[in-house]
Amino acid sequence: MSAAKTEAFVLKTYDYRDTSLLAHFYTKDFGKIHGIIKGVRDARYRYGSTLEPFSLNEILFYRRRRGADLHQVTQVEVINNFQEVREDLEALAYASYFVDLINHIVEIEEPSTGLFGLLKDAMQFLATKASPRRSARIFEVKLFEMLGLMPEIRACVICQDLGPSPAYFQVGMGGILCQNCQGRSAAGDGQTTGIFLSRGAIQFLEHVRRSSMKELLNVKVSQEVGEELEKILRRFADFHLPRKLHSVTFLEKMGYIAR
Ligand SMILES: [Zn+2]
Repeated sequence: MSAAKTEAFVLKTYDYRDTSLLAHFYTKDFGKIHGIIKGVRDARYRYGSTLEPFSLNEILFYRRRRGADLHQVTQVEVINNFQEVREDLEALAYASYFVDLINHIVEIEEPSTGLFGLLKDAMQFLATKASPRRSARIFEVKLFEMLGLMPEIRACVICQDLGPSPAYFQVGMGGILCQNCQGRSAAGDGQTTGIFLSRGAIQFLEHVRRSSMKELLNVKVSQEVGEELEKILRRFADFHLPRKLHSVTFLEKMGYIAR
């Protein structure tokens, strides 16, 4: 076992036995890791952190063999608890969604400083009162892009026709269809029709793909386009998840996203 120190977002914690905690972290240097923190529930005062979800900490842990059980975390020191985010229920609900999504969609122990930076930027967006919904759309697009899951939005996935208009998004086919192909696929195999995707929505997706997070802080989007994007990106995320996320159920319950 070797010791390692890294920055880590708390994704999720579980009580373990009498006094310990199991935690899923997304770390800067090791990707997603699972750790056990012994005795923490008895002695929270020893730590500068209560290990709350989406808090950013510096952790010291003893690494086990790759893929083996749990790493033992012996020090946790809070860097940023994102208090501003915790004081705003909508921002808090979206921050919970970000870490929930990473916890369920990202493979264990695959380091990506890009993904770590994305989560950090997205949390900063929420902390600086950027629109949580818009932050979520940007987060989803960038996350899919980094994981190689981004749907095809430039050309019809069947006939390769560039920039089709109108375009229909087919979740299971991983991208957009032109009107012709949409008509044929809907009639041919009885598939459900794709979701109409406006030119504005496609332009927003392309803009997000090629811009840095810093450039996107003040990007504007109309309400209709925002709703379209929410529908397709949420549906696309669900398609890649084993089950519905609790954070999504909460967002729906609070009316922060459409059911
Ligand atoms: Zn086509």
